[in-house]
Amino acid sequence: MSNLKPDELSKINYMPPEEDWMSVSVQMRKGMYCHGASENSLKTVGFPNPRKWSSAEADWKLPDNWQEIVLKGMAERLEKYRSFHIFMDICVRCGACADKCHFFLGTGDPKNMPVLRAELLRSVYRREFTTAGKILGKIAGARELTEDVLKEWWYYFFQCTECRRCSVFCPYGIDTAEITMIARELLNLLGLNIEWIAGPVANCYMKGNHLGLEPHTITSSVEFLLDEIEEITGIKIEPTFNRKGAEILFVTPSGDLFADPGTYTCMGYLMLFHELGLDYTWSTYASEGGNFGSFTSNEMGKRLNSKIYAEAKRLGVKWILGGECGHMWRVLNQYMDTWNGPADFLQVPVSPITGTVFENAASTKMVHISEFTADLLKHNKLEIDPSRNDHYKVTFHDSCNPSRGMGLLEEPRYIINKVCNNFFEMPENTIREKTFCCGSGSGLNASENMELRLRGGFPRANAVKHVKNKYDVNMLACICAIDRAALTTLMDYWVPGVKVIGVTELLANALKMKGENDRDTDLRGEPLSGAEDGDAKEDSEDV
Ligand code: SF4
Ligand code: SF4
Repeated sequence: MSNLKPDELSKINYMPPEEDWMSVSVQMRKGMYCHGASENSLKTVGFPNPRKWSSAEADWKLPDNWQEIVLKGMAERLEKYRSFHIFMDICVRCGACADKCHFFLGTGDPKNMPVLRAELLRSVYRREFTTAGKILGKIAGARELTEDVLKEWWYYFFQCTECRRCSVFCPYGIDTAEITMIARELLNLLGLNIEWIAGPVANCYMKGNHLGLEPHTITSSVEFLLDEIEEITGIKIEPTFNRKGAEILFVTPSGDLFADPGTYTCMGYLMLFHELGLDYTWSTYASEGGNFGSFTSNEMGKRLNSKIYAEAKRLGVKWILGGECGHMWRVLNQYMDTWNGPADFLQVPVSPITGTVFENAASTKMVHISEFTADLLKHNKLEIDPSRNDHYKVTFHDSCNPSRGMGLLEEPRYIINKVCNNFFEMPENTIREKTFCCGSGSGLNASENMELRLRGGFPRANAVKHVKNKYDVNMLACICAIDRAALTTLMDYWVPGVKVIGVTELLANALKMKGENDRDTDLRGEPLSGAEDGDAKEDSEDV
């Protein structure tokens, strides 16, 4: 990105160009887009039209019949997905969604308004698939699919994190995230994906995880974390890998194993499971909770999703416990059952510690770690000392997918309130279902589009800044691996002094393990502070 300082980047021009939006050609601004997908990544999974190309060059080396490919793909999807067909027809352009997208708020670019982003596709739909559009053309909001239009699709549909915030405000329930998904599928037919998605998809397909880690690398990373835990607590933990007959398969994003602060959350899982004596196993094959395939096409999402269930079947577990991963939960709750499920070979999850039957997971057979942990705390099954987190003043970021995607709103708050004395909510219009996105989801967490990420994350950062100024908040908790990575960069830029933490790390700090040493540091090696009273407060002010 350009080296703009926060006070320069926050100057946003909301004055749109005077011309009609159709007359304004796309301008590819460096820092606002990701590198195109590599030939190798596309070939690995058999995606169409793999080739060397660059979005920075004028010639994208499209196949001769590219228009035919796209329009045929569109026709097929209009036929297959009733929601897509409806979304193309029913928007009344009321504008209720216009100022709800973090990318519009952070860039001021009108084509980042959800209504106009969808219109980029809808205009071609009208021209090709409606009588009015065919006859009246531009008067009916229709336009031809030209190379310029295609480039505009690529630029703006990879400036949408599929977060669905706009859908919460649409009176017709139009889900622009689903329109983005279809647009990306159409682009994918021409090999026009981005490498930060295509690379992890290829890795996951070949090796079971986004990072392309071999089994021995996964086990040695966990062993490194076990050594850290032993140093802090004096307790030696010995988890199992690929163990047939375990009761539970644990699946978490591979990012948890390598990058701070995800590694601390991962240490938290290990400590919690050891304390409970849980009969669980990790898999070095289904070693990825994330599903970047869902950012390319339904078909690829399905292929990657199936690995988790195939592994659960092979190992003969009863049910699956999932770590703090955002889009894993959206995929499971919204798509898995029609892709690969229901997972009938598994059993409805029952907590072996509390006996709670997770009826909400009756078809997916998969429980989120926050549901599992909240249930343990509710039944007083863990010894907790919340004062161990008193050096933190905590706020909570509802990750888009678990919150809007599956309604996981209360469980993480319940845990935080049990394990921390100082919890402060951000303003109501920026949390829960209305949460602001981190700005880097759906595969956009690359470094080359840093300006886009910082602009897109600006509304989130602004709300954090509000509680930092008001309550001296210094820790932003969340339950998503991408968020932990994305928000760290975001906070460093916009709200220095605020760090990022997983909810399970907070729990592990407060967890008094049987036989542990007198602990004088948290999982990060920071000194634990003395008790200090504080009340959880809600902030009703707008930001
Ligand atoms: S809120 Fe819904 S109906 Fe209104 S402009 Fe946005 S997408 Fe269209
Ligand atoms: S889904 Fe999210 S990123 Fe995409 S248009 Fe809607 S609010 Fe913006």
